Amino acid sequence: MSTDTPQPPAAPGSGLHRDTLAVRTASERSQYGEHSEALYLTSGYVQPSAAAAARRFAGDEEGFTYGRYGNPTVASFERRLAALEGAPACISTASGMSAILMLCLGLLKSGDHVLCSQSMFGSTIKLIGTDLAKFGVESSFVPQSDLRAWQAALRPQTQLLFAETPTNPLTEVCDIRALADLAHNAGALLCVDNCFATPALQRPLALGADIVMHSGTKYLDGQGRVMAGALCASEELVHKSFLPILKSGGMTLAPFNAWVVLKGLETLEIRMQAQSARALVLAQWLASHPCVTQVFYPGLPSHPQHALAMLQQSGCGGAVLSFEVKAANAEQARTRAFQVLDAMQLLSLCTNLGDTKTLVAHPASTSHGRLTEAQRSAAGVSQGLIRVAVGLEHLGDIQLDLDRGLSSF
Ligand SMILES: *Cc1c(COP(=O)(O)O)cnc(C)c1O
Repeated sequence: MSTDTPQPPAAPGSGLHRDTLAVRTASERSQYGEHSEALYLTSGYVQPSAAAAARRFAGDEEGFTYGRYGNPTVASFERRLAALEGAPACISTASGMSAILMLCLGLLKSGDHVLCSQSMFGSTIKLIGTDLAKFGVESSFVPQSDLRAWQAALRPQTQLLFAETPTNPLTEVCDIRALADLAHNAGALLCVDNCFATPALQRPLALGADIVMHSGTKYLDGQGRVMAGALCASEELVHKSFLPILKSGGMTLAPFNAWVVLKGLETLEIRMQAQSARALVLAQWLASHPCVTQVFYPGLPSHPQHALAMLQQSGCGGAVLSFEVKAANAEQARTRAFQVLDAMQLLSLCTNLGDTKTLVAHPASTSHGRLTEAQRSAAGVSQGLIRVAVGLEHLGDIQLDLDRGLSSF
């Protein structure tokens, strides 16, 4: 590599603002001086000598060895996300779920206990509560914002506390700093799923969390194109606990997907601000709509953890909200929710989120469809509940499309 190629800033200690790091942090430029970060599609790397190869494989020398272990484009994404989260290190994965799998395989063994919020993402509950149970890892699930319940469920074997804030679909918020204190007093680590808020709004490590988990599939990509995941943490956790799992487990992020998400990070801040601003106005409009009984959005003063959310999330409620349609009973609520969804001509009936296109979903029959009625009501997911992941369309067009069904009751 030519030494006179100007190089991107190394993030740690650079003194640069996060907005700058979001567009500038990356791996070194090649000798060609490409301005947009290069996409390296290669599964192997030519080694300069047999001795260097031996040192690199032994981890005694920096240098890429094999595509499953690392790639310069993937490293660019990891550096940039670490810079945004204020993390010493980051390791990426093929999806958000494989990041959680890496977290668990890296930190837990048979006999250990994991303590989670009961409002976690459905696949997270299945992975930790059912799949890991087969290997002797125990787990408990407690109400998201009930700190006493978290405290009471701690066991001597508790190694990991895992929370997601705000949650899907009811946007419940938990106190990251309080949970971090609880975890550390019990000799455990706290991991926060930062998928909904993203580092644009919330930086859990600064609040005391040990690990931040991401589904890059959502807002980091931001345009619904690729799957990606990541864990941000200390150098020690990343290199000693997680990297060995990546090497043997192979949940490697593909370079192309890393490149897409890397470029997504450049617009994360302005997307989150613009989508959250629309979500707030939409939430206020829905709250005053005669056919809506309740709106769940952390940016509204009526939200039970509004004050905490405003402190913890840079004064911003995020881009996801849910609301309940007015109905006499559960059956009518379901019929009316379906009516709203089927009347839409513009917005997407789609269970993903974090896209520039507004996505609308009926959690009770999709993401929470496999739960029993009792589990569903414990999760607060009623038949009349509709989730909106607000995109970048004009607000008036979003309102008009939702109102087609709502005004037909
Ligand atoms: C989507 C999602 C995940 C899982 O991520 P994938 O990339 O789909 O594997 C985890 N947590 C939350 C909050 C999510 O929304």
